[in-house]
Amino acid sequence: MSRTGRAAYDLPKSDVPTVDMESVIPKGNLRQTPAELPEVSELDLMRHYTELSNRNHGIDSGFYPLGSCTMKYNPKINEDVARYPGFAKIHPYQAEETVQGALQVLYDLQTELEEITGMDAVSLQPAAGAQGEWTALMMIRAYHENRGEKRNKVIVPDTAHGTNPASVSVAGLEAVTIPSDEKGNVDLEELRKVVGPDTAALMLTNPSTLGLFEENISEIADIVHGAGGLLYYDGANTNAILGITRPGDMGFDVVHLNLHKTFTGPHGGGGPGSGPIGCKKELLSFLPRPQIVKDGEVYRFDYGIPNSIGRVKAYYGNFGINLRAHVYIRSNGPTGLQRVSEEAVLNANYMMRKLAPYYDLPYDRICKHEFVLSGKRQKKLGVRTLDMAKRLLDFGYHPPTIYFPLIVEECMMIEPTETESKETLDEFIDAMIQIAREAEEDPTVIQEAPHHTVISRLDEVNAARKPVLRYKKPVEESVKGSGIHEPVQA
Ligand SMILES: *Cc1c(COP(=O)(O)O)cnc(C)c1O
Repeated sequence: MSRTGRAAYDLPKSDVPTVDMESVIPKGNLRQTPAELPEVSELDLMRHYTELSNRNHGIDSGFYPLGSCTMKYNPKINEDVARYPGFAKIHPYQAEETVQGALQVLYDLQTELEEITGMDAVSLQPAAGAQGEWTALMMIRAYHENRGEKRNKVIVPDTAHGTNPASVSVAGLEAVTIPSDEKGNVDLEELRKVVGPDTAALMLTNPSTLGLFEENISEIADIVHGAGGLLYYDGANTNAILGITRPGDMGFDVVHLNLHKTFTGPHGGGGPGSGPIGCKKELLSFLPRPQIVKDGEVYRFDYGIPNSIGRVKAYYGNFGINLRAHVYIRSNGPTGLQRVSEEAVLNANYMMRKLAPYYDLPYDRICKHEFVLSGKRQKKLGVRTLDMAKRLLDFGYHPPTIYFPLIVEECMMIEPTETESKETLDEFIDAMIQIAREAEEDPTVIQEAPHHTVISRLDEVNAARKPVLRYKKPVEESVKGSGIHEPVQA
């Protein structure tokens, strides 16, 4: 589209003296050849980006059953409220007395999340689930150190989310993986073997990445507490338990939530998120600072947390996402939130039962908000789970999570969420059944999918390892040999 001399702006000629770049920027830092930028009109630019956005799949454009990610509808009332000037046009360094309304939102959200999780306090600072995990582990570490105990092992079942062992490492602790049993629960014998005086904590993803609720939760809590360890609850998928049960009641000491999943913050594409943590009394003095507190009718920041691990995020967390979560919680109320989970679980079980005749179901028991299928049967016919995921694109769906959790061969992890209608669920089920039939009758149609998308299969390894992050003119026009990347053709 580029035409030499064309521009998307029209500025008057500068009437102030221009700076001689060479006098202010060291020579080595000056660009040697002119930047290669596309030269296009404003309308070309607009159409280019609008067309790109149309190629993207989002929850507003179609069904998005990406397991563990809770891609549910993001209600537009959240967006309306987030755009109120009183929220959108304030600055985090404004004096407390000028932002009392914003502080009240944060304080009320803390209180709501305490009630939802059964915890004594909540910090809204962590910007994502993984950062919430890390924050909680830093508190656990500080707790043991404060008591003069040397505990550095964190037990992580093999059904945990992948971020769990990663957060353990980043927190300077050591992950000990334990297997699950044939029903998908934590193997209690294995757990008893590994707990001991070096156990800092157990991290449990519940429901697990198999979409299953841990059946022996009270016994697990007793075993870990009995050994002096703490219990961490990965509550990223609270979508399954809202108003039904609470980590605090199950004996857990600390929990993180993903407001961008369960509580409808728009997400995907890397953010923004919010991963608040909640903790019980014994961990209060280690919380990040500041906390938001209420004195009489006045809201303020409290920096006086004696053993605080410090600040974990600039300012006070992702305010916009916290605000949206508050709107969502208030729009639903306690009974509404309970219905959210009941319907999320109902939808997942409905879909699981409908698909069970066509795909292998490795754990045949009631699931929570999501379930896993195995493509073992189709693999024998020469069709991999990756191929089926690509084929789903032809039907206009975002594929489910695939090849995770690792303990299920040719895994597909499907999360329909409560916001989809029965018709949408049925249409997706039909597409999955058709794909299972094609695997038997015409495998090449799946192996060569997608057929109806703008581009066919991407070279995913090269895209990840050698990303092309800047515009480059087609090779014959550009200054050859100066660039790092070869131009790519879509
Ligand atoms: C999504 C998820 C996480 C990580 O959350 P991020 O916000 O992506 O960092 C952790 N645990 C579970 C179970 C999850 O589903």
